[in-house]
Amino acid sequence: MLKLEMLPAGCGDCLILEHLHDGRSQRILIDGGTPASYPALRARFSREIRPHFDLIVVTHVDVDHMGGILELLRDTTLGVTYDDLWFNGFLHMKPFLADALGSAGVATFAREGRANDDLLGPAQGAALAVLAKAGRWNEAFHRGPIVALDVGVLPRIELQGGLALTVLSPTPATLQKMALVWAREVRSAEEELAQPVSPGGEQLDLLGGLDVKALASEPEHRDDAPANGSSIALLAEVGPHACLLAADAWPNVLATTIQRLLRERGLRRLPVGAVKLPHHGSKRNVTRDWLNLVECSNFLISTDGKRFRHPDAQAIARIIYERRDVRLHFNSASLSALRWQSESLQVRYGFTTVFPGSGGESLVLMIG
Ligand SMILES: [Zn+2]
Repeated sequence: MLKLEMLPAGCGDCLILEHLHDGRSQRILIDGGTPASYPALRARFSREIRPHFDLIVVTHVDVDHMGGILELLRDTTLGVTYDDLWFNGFLHMKPFLADALGSAGVATFAREGRANDDLLGPAQGAALAVLAKAGRWNEAFHRGPIVALDVGVLPRIELQGGLALTVLSPTPATLQKMALVWAREVRSAEEELAQPVSPGGEQLDLLGGLDVKALASEPEHRDDAPANGSSIALLAEVGPHACLLAADAWPNVLATTIQRLLRERGLRRLPVGAVKLPHHGSKRNVTRDWLNLVECSNFLISTDGKRFRHPDAQAIARIIYERRDVRLHFNSASLSALRWQSESLQVRYGFTTVFPGSGGESLVLMIG
């Protein structure tokens, strides 16, 4: 049985996936939310003596995913331990630069100070170094990049205890794009980390009724932000139970790799117990091309809606318009989420909504 827990993580992601079997459990932490949401993550483990994770995944270099992990690793009073940390630093992206620049171009890139041989690359600050310092890093990949190469079968790592993780993102092309802007992206992430937390506000431009049909058929414009493209997206499976953890991955990458997986397995659609929607339910990531490849009733949305007003109504409309018996699991009762509580919409489109309790609890979903 799989237990997927979505912690309150501000505008970001903080997921705990547990595999419960024979009275034992394996535990993975995927992202840590924002620095401001760290107290929720800390409180979740404060009663454990030296909390242990079989694996910690930092999907990509964005404050709403990485911030809480940095706090966790620095928190000596909690004393977290782990067997492996998955995270692609500049070191892991650099090999893919040669395709874009040629070897002479890579030399120029390096001369200009945009690449160097330290572990994390240019603009490495104290914050990111925390990830590397702890030692165990991408061990399951022989310390190399976590990437779905364009040929061969998709990488699949089986952890002790039987939980298997298949890598659906990033690809060589998306790592290359991120490598080219690494210094800039890391600098801006670290500037954000250094800033005091602004309370943020949520406004909705869509007041009144929602026209699901019109929203679902709006043209799609796909996410092309390099940091999101470098996201580690995983299919987690144990026996027949599975969940898709899509980080902030690009939709065209998900469509391509899910299609490859279907070919590998001789399936038309991928049956999964839950999908954690990519990029907090952004309309630029939740697109029909990959949605149509999965068979799923439980869709998870992690955000408090304060940044970019996620989830977008178009994204939710694309999910519910062509499916029945969908359950939308929100980890925050934000305005963008609450508008889907409308009884008339739920009756018409045959979906329900699930929210956590009002005391800042996690949202928990059992799979299997
Ligand atoms: Zn994000």
